[in-house]
Amino acid sequence: SFESIMEFSQFKKNPQGLLPVIVQHYQTGEVLMLAYMNEEAFNQTVKTGRMTYYSRSRQKLWLKGETSGHFQYVKSLTIDCDLDTLLAKVDQVGAACHTGNPTCFFQPIVGSDNNEKSPVQVFEHVYQTIIDRKNNPKEGSYTNYLFEQGQDKILKKIGEEATGIVIASKNPNPEELKTEMADFLYHAMVLMVEKGITWEDITNQLLQK
Ligand code: AMP
Ligand code: ZN
Ligand code: ZN
Repeated sequence: SFESIMEFSQFKKNPQGLLPVIVQHYQTGEVLMLAYMNEEAFNQTVKTGRMTYYSRSRQKLWLKGETSGHFQYVKSLTIDCDLDTLLAKVDQVGAACHTGNPTCFFQPIVGSDNNEKSPVQVFEHVYQTIIDRKNNPKEGSYTNYLFEQGQDKILKKIGEEATGIVIASKNPNPEELKTEMADFLYHAMVLMVEKGITWEDITNQLLQK
């Protein structure tokens, strides 16, 4: 449960009396969806820590995830300069979009959104894929092979890849080093999953939290 230092009545609502909410992934910053809140939705969201909206199509309170299980856990709520738009950073379970897309914004109409991912998004995505492999093993998966062989095998690979980095660094052409570093980071993430360490644990260390 959270506490809001502002009340819904202080916000500037649209002509329908609703407040638009931009919903962003708290770790990657990816914009997930846009929805609307009325006063009850806002108060429920603050009270429960789960994003609750007002569904304009169904004209009723809408707990995001109530049927899909794809809940959104509140990390923070921020109001903009002129108090007419809410920004929610959330921990998203599953897909934000009812189409199954991670984000509702997957249809480019001007320019090309090549789905370019920031490094943090790629790391989190690969990490999640490794977790998914562990939970749902896939035929022929190298990741599953590593988990089956166990921790010693993973550690041996990390040692080999670290040595690969050292050797590749002696080559003036950086291409081999790029490959070796990517291999190392992948195996490090396999070890993270094996040990139950998250990227948040790592970034907290880097930020000395
Ligand atoms: P959910 O709240 O995820 O259980 O979804 C319940 C219903 O809300 C879905 O069947 C859709 O009609 C609608 N819905 C869910 N997510 C979205 C979204 N991101 N944008 C628009 N409608 C949605
Ligand atoms: Zn504004
Ligand atoms: Zn959608």
